Amino acid sequence: MSLPRYDQFINGQFVPSVTGEYFPLINPETGEVVAKIANSVGADVEHAVEVAKTAFHQTNWRTDKAFRVQCLRTLAAKMRAALPDLVAAESRVTGRPIREMQAQLSRLPEWYDYFASVVETLEDTVPPFGPGYLNYTVREPLGVVGLLTPWNHPLLILTKKLAPALAAGNAVVIKPSEQAPITVNILAALIKDSGIPDGIVGVVHGYGAVAGKALSENNQLGKIDLTGGTPTGRSVAAAAGHNLIKVAAELGGKASVLIFQDANLEEAVNGAVFAGYIASGQTCVQGARMIVPESMYDEFVEAFVQKVKQLRIGSPLDVNTDVGPMVSERQLNRVLDYVNIGVKEGAKLVYGGTAIAGNGWYVRPAVFTEVTNEMTIAQEEIFGPVVCIMKYRTEEEAITIANGTEFGLAMSIWTNDIRKAHRVASQLEAGVIWINDHHRINPSSPWGGYKDSGLGRENGIDCYKDYTQVKNIIVNTNPEPFDWFDGTGQAKRYS
Ligand code: NDP
Repeated sequence: MSLPRYDQFINGQFVPSVTGEYFPLINPETGEVVAKIANSVGADVEHAVEVAKTAFHQTNWRTDKAFRVQCLRTLAAKMRAALPDLVAAESRVTGRPIREMQAQLSRLPEWYDYFASVVETLEDTVPPFGPGYLNYTVREPLGVVGLLTPWNHPLLILTKKLAPALAAGNAVVIKPSEQAPITVNILAALIKDSGIPDGIVGVVHGYGAVAGKALSENNQLGKIDLTGGTPTGRSVAAAAGHNLIKVAAELGGKASVLIFQDANLEEAVNGAVFAGYIASGQTCVQGARMIVPESMYDEFVEAFVQKVKQLRIGSPLDVNTDVGPMVSERQLNRVLDYVNIGVKEGAKLVYGGTAIAGNGWYVRPAVFTEVTNEMTIAQEEIFGPVVCIMKYRTEEEAITIANGTEFGLAMSIWTNDIRKAHRVASQLEAGVIWINDHHRINPSSPWGGYKDSGLGRENGIDCYKDYTQVKNIIVNTNPEPFDWFDGTGQAKRYS
């Protein structure tokens, strides 16, 4: 049986790479090759950027805001209609349970609608300048923007970048993860159907170290925006520094979940398990570090493990599944290696952490207790279903533990004490803090990290502005003649 083929999307057409080569895409549930993906190389990336640059300059995309708004709203509607196909494909490729993908993808059209509304409502400024002048600013697009996206939330993360980039009038070239390319091609077809001019959106595939690197180093870009690991973030930001272009980087995380004594135990446990095991822990804001008062530690651990034991492991396409497979064999082995490290360093593995025999890359959700903050499993991003439960005695100690990592993407606080909630939130070093919640996101609500978790913010008006550059237009309205060299110039200029 011939495998379905997924090509690059350049100038509104699906086309093979210049090499004519393809690489295999593997189903994480079964381990079988299910599709072949165009293996884009540097020459493909260069071509895609050239095409995008031409479309940027030769179409009305960058100048006609009303047209952009109409296309974005059409795209939102087309995504809503295509939701069942997108959800099934995203679930199959990533191994993420279909219920999760349904919940996540059903919200994505909101991003295109939201940023269309930003275009319709954001006002430019008229900064003070003094008499005899009209002074105003306009926001213009940057040109061609490169988008590098990971495999864990392929469409969500792409949408967070694509919606504001397009709304601002840019052209884009996307390099999705080699492990999750299919839904990006489905989206490309919807983009074409929405009336967005050919060439404004390009998609190249291929490997990060080849196609991704070539995109990040391309000197025709106006901005590069990556979501990925912190090491990739450093190299992409270095290339952007060399080319003197804007960079945004949403990077790794190791989120703490701070539980306080006054929290309702059942609510806190439900929230903590949700924080830790959604996406089988393969998410940058995974609640990987539970920080629990010593006085309620045993009770919390017992209820937490009880809840984890009830999670249903199974096919991602089964609506009853809570935990699907890891995305790849490499990710499965990474999780198993960290479980071994945790045991060797003296943490207590109280549940799970073993691979499940058979097809696919399944691992039982792992729970470690007796973890201390300097242990590797408490510090490094595992990106899998491994949760550490740590103890504290005082509020101050809880905050110190929570802030005691190099990451600073997100954290959650579980308490019913309103003063404590805000007092603690103000001291946490992270870009997103949830109080009595976790994982919640909205197109208008800034998303991004402190410390090594990244640069810049997704979502919201600041993100839109980051996809633009400001032009200042200074208009001399004074009718009096001016000649610097006739002897009156100095008095007129500086009076
Ligand atoms: P990677 O950093 O490996 O890859 C991210 C993207 O960059 C992929 O498209 C990848 O391509 C590409 N890439 C890889 N190497 C390079 C390179 N040298 N130059 C340019 N591009 C490159 O991350 P993962 O895909 O493994 O995703 C997981 C990471 O993403 C985790 O660290 C996670 O925390 C982070 N993340 C952050 C989020 C946030 O909002 N802050 C949200 C979700 C994830 P390819 O896959 O083909 O190698």
